[in-house]
Amino acid sequence: MKYIILLGDGMADYPLDVLDGKTPLEYADTPHMDRIAREGTLGMVDTVPYGFPPGSDVAIMSLMGYDPRKYYTGRGPLEAASMGVSLEKDDVAFRCNLVTFSGTERVFMEDFTSGHITSQESRLMVNDLQKAIGTEQFRFYPGVSYRNLFVWKEGKSSMKTTPPHDITGEAIKDYLPEGDGADQLRLLMELSREILKDHPVNKKRLSQGEKPASSIWLWGQGRAPNFVKLAERYGIRGGMISAVDLLNGIGIYAGLEVIRIEGATGYTDTNYLGKAQGALEALKERDFIFVHVEAPDEMGHEGDIEGKVKAIEDFDKKVVGTIMEERHQLSPFRLMVLSDHPTPISIRTHSSDPSPFAVLSSLEGENIRSSLSFCEQSAKKSMITVSPGYLLMDGFIGDWRRFIEEKSH
Ligand SMILES: [Zn+2]
Repeated sequence: MKYIILLGDGMADYPLDVLDGKTPLEYADTPHMDRIAREGTLGMVDTVPYGFPPGSDVAIMSLMGYDPRKYYTGRGPLEAASMGVSLEKDDVAFRCNLVTFSGTERVFMEDFTSGHITSQESRLMVNDLQKAIGTEQFRFYPGVSYRNLFVWKEGKSSMKTTPPHDITGEAIKDYLPEGDGADQLRLLMELSREILKDHPVNKKRLSQGEKPASSIWLWGQGRAPNFVKLAERYGIRGGMISAVDLLNGIGIYAGLEVIRIEGATGYTDTNYLGKAQGALEALKERDFIFVHVEAPDEMGHEGDIEGKVKAIEDFDKKVVGTIMEERHQLSPFRLMVLSDHPTPISIRTHSSDPSPFAVLSSLEGENIRSSLSFCEQSAKKSMITVSPGYLLMDGFIGDWRRFIEEKSH
């Protein structure tokens, strides 16, 4: 059996007036996901346990079958794994964004991506930060675009930090790290502003009308989590395709092979088709593939309705469509499409609401055939809700027929 999960990050949303009261998923032209919902099984999955931040890290962990309440330690260590940075038992890994501030007296979070700074530019800056303020204890590692890493050897982890994508446009002073160890973090952030201020990369970006990286922003800290690998749990061999370090890190802890795709960017210009072709190639020798596309989430954060609809349509056509076309060669298979959490245009950040999922199985009797299309409203009507969401993976890999029978009663 081949198991395929195709995930459009943050696709789910709320109804929007400008879309005639439809959500972007409902409004977008998505014939392939609609077909999977119609001919397969449609439902809602609750990926964010109560009291947890609705991040992709928590949501994806749930979807891979790991209860965040048991396994979640923070986003930093997941990204560390993806970047090949191994953590000792007492090391604490932080996400280190390069961000753009605005204002002088009162400082605001203008852009948590520094205008989607290139990896090449951010590497130069992060390496210079390491030279200037890195020590045995404090280490900076360049990642992809604005998503970099900071490791505090034998560090503190219990302080409160804030995801920068949650405070776009807000004054930063209320969101700086607080609690045990926060002083050191604040100091590093302060020092980074001095170092980056006159950095050649910023001078060049400003001269080209692009946003500068004004500061680092440290958040998402934690120690390495302790996963039971999917191979051990389900006896499957699989791969992860994503441009986002966080996802690849979860994959690595779960024992998946990270498959890098040329031209995968984590943005709307990503190589959609390459991802689908990479998945088909990977499935020749593997049982399981997880394909992640970040673009819809990014459009949600930017509040770009048209962009989000387009990202959903591209995902449907080029990723889901490509796999659907070749599905008979994968038989027997189970194919799941879903969103991990909503990133509603109206709030420009993630929400904890459940997301729609749909599964098409090639096996007789494993499809409910709801005749509903793939969107939030239909999924609610389907009467299938998987909560807590980490149980979905057990059903998907295990006895799917029994799972959906139980869930639909
Ligand atoms: Zn996400």
